Amino acid sequence: MALLVVCAGIFLLIALPHVIAKSRNVSSKNLSTVDILTALGIFLGITWFVAIILACTYPEEQAQQQATATSAVTCGNCGRSLGKLETPNVIRGHNVCYQCYTLLKDQVQQ
Ligand SMILES: [Zn+2]
Repeated sequence: MALLVVCAGIFLLIALPHVIAKSRNVSSKNLSTVDILTALGIFLGITWFVAIILACTYPEEQAQQQATATSAVTCGNCGRSLGKLETPNVIRGHNVCYQCYTLLKDQVQQ
C-alpha cells in the first residue's frame, strides 16, 4: 500500500510541469517542449526543473487571442468592423475604412 502511494507521488511529481503548463493554457508547441524536458528529467533530473520553470513562465495562448480579438477596429463613419489585413485610415482622429476614406477625404481637405 505504501509503495503504491510512493509510486503515485512520483508519477504526480513527474507530471507536475505538464499539469501546470496545461492549466495555464500555453501553446501546444511550448507544451510539447515542457513534455520533452520532463521526460528527459526522469534520467537527467535538472531538465525537470527547467520544464517546471518554463511551464510557469510561458505566455498563456488564450489570453493573447482574446487581447487581439478585443482590439478589433471599427470604422468611425459607417461602423463596419475592419478586417485583419485592412489598414485603417485616419480622418480627424477617427479610424475609417477605405470606402469611407475615399468619400470623406475631399471634404476634410477643404
Ligand atoms: Zn466606413
